Amino acid sequence: MIVELKNITKYYQNAASDKKRIILDDISLAIEKGDSIAIVGPSGSGKSTLLNVISSLDTANSGSIIFDGEDLSQKNEKELANFRNQNLGFVFQLHHLLPQLNLIENVLLPFIPVKDKKKRQEAEKRALELLDFVGLLDLILQRPGQMSGGECQRAALVRALIHQPNLILADEPTGSLDKKAANKLGDLLVRINEKQGVSVVVVTHSMDLAKKMKKIYQLEDGRLKQIAIGNE
Ligand code: ADP
Ligand code: ADP
Repeated sequence: MIVELKNITKYYQNAASDKKRIILDDISLAIEKGDSIAIVGPSGSGKSTLLNVISSLDTANSGSIIFDGEDLSQKNEKELANFRNQNLGFVFQLHHLLPQLNLIENVLLPFIPVKDKKKRQEAEKRALELLDFVGLLDLILQRPGQMSGGECQRAALVRALIHQPNLILADEPTGSLDKKAANKLGDLLVRINEKQGVSVVVVTHSMDLAKKMKKIYQLEDGRLKQIAIGNE
């Protein structure tokens, strides 16, 4: 087990009345090591909120998140930042690569301040292996503007993996891609999960992507229910 959400409730106070709008209603979810989980549901149903609560970028009103036996609510901001750095990789709908840097510079950006030369060299080696793995080795000197949307998303995936996370959290990672590029990115998420043992939680509108995951949950009216076994 890597993450356990226990009775998570999240609501917003309606500005116009004193009513609460419940977004996440007493949600419990276990994310096991090696899991791949899709979370689907209508727009506005709280999928991004749930992902942000898992990563502790957002806080729930009640409930707890236990990560590898540790209760995240006991950590301060600095400890949470360290925890995210060590354990989590993020992929978003937009790649957020820096346009003025080339591909390899973008991927290695977090290692620029690292003083230890050996650590930097290891990161470089890992970057090249990962870029090879996602089929981008020929493009390492190109800037994002010279790459297709699918290539940029695969680069974002490499950037998410460079710290060797235990869990990848992906929010609509194929939302800006055409069908072919989306399919390729989905297959890479599956291979990363299966070959490298990285757990994956992906929020998506796309049933094509969801079906590639081992478990599919639907979020609706604040409730999470497992709707199918994916990985067809
Ligand atoms: P999804 O990812 O499923 O589209 P979100 O998690 O982004 O849904 O949002 C869930 C709901 O929470 C939305 O209806 C949104 O309007 C509401 N919401 C998100 N952030 C806030 C906020 N800071 N204040 C009030 N309501 C919010
Ligand atoms: P897509 O059809 O996926 O949007 P593009 O038409 O944007 O792809 O790009 C097709 C290929 O051309 C990609 O492999 C990309 O790396 C390359 N490419 C695009 N623009 C440039 C450029 N300005 N310089 C070099 N290569 C480029």
